[in-house]
Amino acid sequence: MLTINETRFLNDLDALAQIGSTGDGGVSRPALSPQDVAGRDWFRQKVITEGFIFRQDGAGNLSAVLESDNPAAKTLLIGSHLDSVVNGGRFDGALGTLAALETLRTIRDSGRELPFHLEAISFTDEEGTLMGLMGSSALAGTLTQYELEHPRGGREALLVGMARVGINDASVLAAKRDPETTLGYMEVHIEQGTRLEESGTHIGVVTAIVGIRSRWLRINGAAAHAGTMPMDKRRDALWGAAAFVEKARALVMEHYTPGVVNVGRLSLEPGAFNIVPGVAELALEFRHGDAALLDEMEADLTAAAETCARDFGLELTITRLDDKAPAPMDAGLMAAIEGSAESLGLRHTRLMSFAGHDAQSTAQIVPSAMFFVPSVNGVSHNPAEYTIPADCVNGANVLLRAVLAVAG
Ligand SMILES: [Zn+2]
Repeated sequence: MLTINETRFLNDLDALAQIGSTGDGGVSRPALSPQDVAGRDWFRQKVITEGFIFRQDGAGNLSAVLESDNPAAKTLLIGSHLDSVVNGGRFDGALGTLAALETLRTIRDSGRELPFHLEAISFTDEEGTLMGLMGSSALAGTLTQYELEHPRGGREALLVGMARVGINDASVLAAKRDPETTLGYMEVHIEQGTRLEESGTHIGVVTAIVGIRSRWLRINGAAAHAGTMPMDKRRDALWGAAAFVEKARALVMEHYTPGVVNVGRLSLEPGAFNIVPGVAELALEFRHGDAALLDEMEADLTAAAETCARDFGLELTITRLDDKAPAPMDAGLMAAIEGSAESLGLRHTRLMSFAGHDAQSTAQIVPSAMFFVPSVNGVSHNPAEYTIPADCVNGANVLLRAVLAVAG
């Protein structure tokens, strides 16, 4: 049975972790920073030295390509990302990118001919230092000029970063791939949670990447003297807000598990010891992997907020912000990953991804799938992030065997 070269793969992981090293086991390679550019240069050198075709597309996505003998063949994408958050871990993204490169090497060395071009890709700015999922959404053709002009990391920083790797707005927008020439996308990633570790499972096959909705809730009451206004006459906006937070928690835990809800910010006006709150504003976010359940969740949360406001004589207004659709993963690719795990004697389970990943971009245009390997203590986006070598190797081998399964 064909398996990866463990030493070569683990050595690569170590070598990459030296670039942008934080000195305490982590890495700091924010997208398109000088450290990220150094990581990208290392990858390019590696790809060229290994004798693969190297490409950088208009969005700065980097690829190693193992071409099929059939020039008319489609392309199967596998990969992840080389960028990290500031003071992040050495496995987030690096594992998937290097597992993809190792998969190319193993197949090339075996002399096996593939019926598709196999492309190991590292997507630009997965972490969203400048703009989230930049490279993969450009590849999917969902990125807009407006988003490029309003990146969350600031336009100036984006322009400086893009100049460092020789790309610009026009080239990014032209990086869209033709779905007709692309077979699909697969990615291995660390879990960044504890579900696999706690259940003693090797491989977590993602069923869907959650959709995320965010809303501003504004509850209007009446500011009043905190001493002289009788309790039964108060229209205290916080009473409604507090009741809603408690109700939302119970509602989601009872009816929408594994969905999640969060109120990440609560502000009160006028905001003083001696004034009854007249206005409460809540930053509400909720996530689920199923589009229909996300709709139901929103309807229930809205009804709960309306009830809580009415119970205390308050008025509610809701402002719609982001709507990120859930991305269901491809059943055929999921089965290929599960079959690969079984062929290697690894325990696997299905789970939802509550974090965003490039596969949610690629899923908009081609069949996509991803799977997780365990994160020790669930730590991630932190220099202490760790995945044991055996799990890194398992991830790369499952990816390799899933590619061979797709090849048939
Ligand atoms: Zn990642």
